[in-house]
Amino acid sequence: MVLMQIADVSDEIDHELVSKAQIESKITETAQQVSRDYRGKNPLLIAVLKGAINTMAAFSQALSIPAELDFMSLSSYGSGTVSQGTITIRQDLSRDVRGRHIIIVEDIVDSGHTLAWLVDELNKRGAASVEIFALLEKPSRHEVHVDVKYRGYEIPDEFVVGFGLDYDERFRNLDSIAVLKVEVYQGEQA
Ligand code: 5GP
Ligand code: MG
Ligand code: MG
Repeated sequence: MVLMQIADVSDEIDHELVSKAQIESKITETAQQVSRDYRGKNPLLIAVLKGAINTMAAFSQALSIPAELDFMSLSSYGSGTVSQGTITIRQDLSRDVRGRHIIIVEDIVDSGHTLAWLVDELNKRGAASVEIFALLEKPSRHEVHVDVKYRGYEIPDEFVVGFGLDYDERFRNLDSIAVLKVEVYQGEQA
């Protein structure tokens, strides 16, 4: 099966930032590390919808130990595209997390507000441990500190799409991570 590739949307993409092969190798390498660290612990993987779905799918399938999966839908209120730390739960987890070893599987850490809130929330609910795997990080945009144990790629301060990440719900099924052409945003504003 082949996902949509850059060639299919090349008129809207400026450049590729992280290739399909780079994504796969990072996820595989991280899953091997996590499989060693969590052997016998039956970890609970938690992803925030919808951006982290591709990372969650690929990561969970690359693990060599049993794991459970759960999802949460959050909305953050604040100015424009930047989350401000005021977060509400749109759809909650399906199970209690008390006593569980949790790995949050995340697409990207931008300001860090979403993850900081989620780690705090899971600890309040009585998780035995909470760690994070983030495929991407924009260090220059961090506003709050989040301890990311399993780190993927650091990227510059550019809005990216692909591998789960959207612009106005589009490009989630692109098989790599890419930067859109400025015209795509400008068209939106017009
Ligand atoms: P935060 O600012 O709270 O760290 O990031 C919240 C969420 O915003 C991320 O999990 C991700 O879903 C979304 N986000 C942050 N940066 C980008 C980006 O460059 N592109 C896209 N499509 N979504 C982003
Ligand atoms: Mg996310
Ligand atoms: Mg989005």
